[in-house]
Amino acid sequence: MATPTLGIDIGGTGIKGAPVDLETGTFTQDRLRIPTPKGGRPVDVADVVAEIVDHFDTQGPVGATFPAVMRNGTALTAANVDRSWIGTNAADLFSKRCGRPFVVVNDADAAGLAEMRHGAGKDEAGVVLLLTLGTGIGSALFIDGTLVPNTELGHLEVRGKEAEKRAAESVREEKDLSWAKWAKRLDEVIAAMEKILWPRLIILGGGISKKADKFVPKLKTRATVVPAQLRNAAGIVGAASAANPAE
Ligand code: BGC
Repeated sequence: MATPTLGIDIGGTGIKGAPVDLETGTFTQDRLRIPTPKGGRPVDVADVVAEIVDHFDTQGPVGATFPAVMRNGTALTAANVDRSWIGTNAADLFSKRCGRPFVVVNDADAAGLAEMRHGAGKDEAGVVLLLTLGTGIGSALFIDGTLVPNTELGHLEVRGKEAEKRAAESVREEKDLSWAKWAKRLDEVIAAMEKILWPRLIILGGGISKKADKFVPKLKTRATVVPAQLRNAAGIVGAASAANPAE
């Protein structure tokens, strides 16, 4: 077994962490979930991150996800999080708070990395697109297994409205849409993406991937669509992989 690397998945409602065996893409201990502090401000999130780091007995760099465009550890956007994150170097903030090196990447990119290594995208060549359907829509684009970071396709404008405002899982819940109605919205959004990118495989992740049988058969996409396999472990596993890319 490889030495476990700690992965932390920072979301709008929960912050989850677990040590990951990067060879198998599995947790070596049960994950710890702590609710995201109200307001989700950087210092408060850093406190929770530190609590998770202290809880596990891992060493070396820590990987974390964040739901924004991330470049060299700095958040460049804040679509569904507190605006004070824009320009915050999350990697520095967490490193200083925890005394450990941190790598912080976009949440969907992390989920994609995990699925490409250990899940539905394993050994898949060509253009592969992973979409996470949650509060927003995250995207991760791969070409022969290599990530094109920060694609942000959830903000693609579809008939005058952002894709994630049309077809995120949160929209289905808020509007109490039937599976058929929501699948129609998702179809429209995916069709707009397919028009430009022509992926051969689309992997759908996020909590909703558990209910794939309810909506995937209703989709009329050109690409093959499959549910993510790592379910809600993908963010943590991908975060850990980003922290230790060589393993
Ligand atoms: C953000 C992305 C993120 C996605 C999923 C979007 O609103 O802009 O960076 O990956 O939500 O959390």
